[in-house]
Amino acid sequence: MKTIGLIGGMSWESTVTYYQVINETVKEALGGLHSAKLLLYSVDFEEIEWYQASGEWDKSAALLTDAALRLETAGAELLVVCTNTMHKVVPEMQRHLSAPILHIAAATAEELKQSGIRKVGLLGTKYTMTQDFYKDALIAAGIEVLIPEGNDIEMVNNVIYKELCLGEIRTASKEKYLSVIDKLRFRGAQGVILGCTEIGLLIRQEDTDLPVFDTTLIHARKAALAALE
Ligand code: GLU
Repeated sequence: MKTIGLIGGMSWESTVTYYQVINETVKEALGGLHSAKLLLYSVDFEEIEWYQASGEWDKSAALLTDAALRLETAGAELLVVCTNTMHKVVPEMQRHLSAPILHIAAATAEELKQSGIRKVGLLGTKYTMTQDFYKDALIAAGIEVLIPEGNDIEMVNNVIYKELCLGEIRTASKEKYLSVIDKLRFRGAQGVILGCTEIGLLIRQEDTDLPVFDTTLIHARKAALAALE
């Protein structure tokens, strides 16, 4: 079994899920008392969010590369960046590393293709929804991507930073998200990507008839399976 290096804390609310799902997947595959070999470097999210808001992506790339190098030195053979948004700097990080980073959007695209989804709705931070770095990985896999329109972009983004990343799960926000999901379905989405690692704390498959692709669960499971290959 390979040792996984997790770069987490973005936010730590969803890193908890990564730790749990990776261990559950290894236990399922190997049985008995087996559990994952993993290292965690958890950042201070306030710092990361500051760099995002001020557009200093180069600084966050340097910070996360430093974390990844420390994990490599400690023995990590496979790296997982536990956030969709910070995949914006993953190509830059990868240039300095020898261990592969398992890309969250590539992992999700694989899952969408297996489910036969060709047009999908994407929920995430405003960076993930409106910039190209994330959608490009899906488009490259032949998947058409729809994002929310108008004020819904700001609402979806605010719920992530002002509630979910602080561990606040509110029914009113869940209803707002479900109405955005309905609008995406009306525009032709055959499924919806929970493209922020905290959205799974608010929305589950049982809340909607539209197939839900939770990037945290997909990414964590694939990381565990890759470690077992
Ligand atoms: N965890 C979120 C994501 O998957 C948002 C936090 C961040 O900006 O990294 O995008």
